[in-house]
Amino acid sequence: MRPPDARPGFRIVCEICEGLGIVFDGTEDAPATTQIRCRHCGAPRGTLGELRDLSSSGQHDLFEI
Ligand SMILES: [Zn+2]
Repeated sequence: MRPPDARPGFRIVCEICEGLGIVFDGTEDAPATTQIRCRHCGAPRGTLGELRDLSSSGQHDLFEI
């Protein structure tokens, strides 16, 4: 387990409310810099590009998009 603040990257679990749900304003072809926010409290969780990096590593099933 890496510490949450060890490096920039997508927060799988919200640091504020510990929720997994996410929401972003855009489509599947949105730019990688699109900000993704927590569905529950609105805190920033990372960017679409960071999420895609996670998805390509096989962890996308964690998300409720
Ligand atoms: Zn949250």
